[in-house]
Amino acid sequence: MAADAVRKKLHPEGVVTYIVDRNINYTNFCTEYCSFCAFYRPMGHPEGYVLPKEVIFHKIQETLDLGGTGILMQGGLHAELKIDWYADLLSSIKTRFPRLHLHCFSAPEILHIAEVSGLTIRDTIARLRDAGLDSIPGGGAEILDDAVRYRISRLKCSTAEWLEVHRTAHRLGLRTTATMMFGCGETLEQRVNHLEVIRRLQEETGGFTAFIPWTFQRENTSLGRFIKEEATAVEYLKTLAVSRLYLETIPNIQSSWVTQGLKTCQLGLRFGANDVGSVMIEENVVSAAGAHHRSTEEELRRIIRDAGFVPRQRDTLYRTLFLN
Ligand code: SF4
Repeated sequence: MAADAVRKKLHPEGVVTYIVDRNINYTNFCTEYCSFCAFYRPMGHPEGYVLPKEVIFHKIQETLDLGGTGILMQGGLHAELKIDWYADLLSSIKTRFPRLHLHCFSAPEILHIAEVSGLTIRDTIARLRDAGLDSIPGGGAEILDDAVRYRISRLKCSTAEWLEVHRTAHRLGLRTTATMMFGCGETLEQRVNHLEVIRRLQEETGGFTAFIPWTFQRENTSLGRFIKEEATAVEYLKTLAVSRLYLETIPNIQSSWVTQGLKTCQLGLRFGANDVGSVMIEENVVSAAGAHHRSTEEELRRIIRDAGFVPRQRDTLYRTLFLN
């Protein structure tokens, strides 16, 4: 009830938003070996891929044909691709699809591109922005507590590095989102540490548009051998509500149907959330780890209406200033 009251204060018009977009995973090659990840393949693995530009263009055209406004493009940390490859990809997409919003490359990818290319974080983000990057997704945060990160993603960036990428992006004028993947054996204190560092950065920059918590999906992951049970729906809803209360300066909280299913996602709208995320024309990462929920735009609109809210399509920056 307290979280619902905060949601109502921030969004008194009773609108719940969603976006039509697509996840494009340009490569699944990765050098990091995170134990919760079922998506990556080591460099040289026969199941590894890097999508050709033409395939990416085709996926974008399909997205636009379905009324989509943007793409969320992320991949593994490829050992050889440098800034020129990424900048060329972004600029060639923007040349063909000038109005498409490019929400791309999580903090670990940005750090990796900087390292492989011998650039600073600032120069890397500025170069990507100049090539067409519009905003940065909050992936790769998992739990922003280094003891947890050391256990589940030892090779990936530290808490301070993740925050520095987002701080730098905000200073360069890019908005970003923040995420939290919980239920991977962390303590409640470590979850609170995560909320606290996000809250502090938001107080400093105001650059986060949304907070998106979801639960660890254990199927096909090596961490899943040790975490016998995924977080329950009750735990998810409680965490959503606490997030809404703790992060009052972040305008939007997203309820996740992809990991929780439509029913729990709908309940989340009374536990502080005001957004149900993406219609997800394509999703490969959590589905590799056992989340197989599917939905359509009409279904998302229906669960929003049935919960007593007005559904409205938004863009990646949570703007609803177009007809729907
Ligand atoms: S979570 Fe990301 S960085 Fe970690 S192994 Fe998977 S693709 Fe690589």
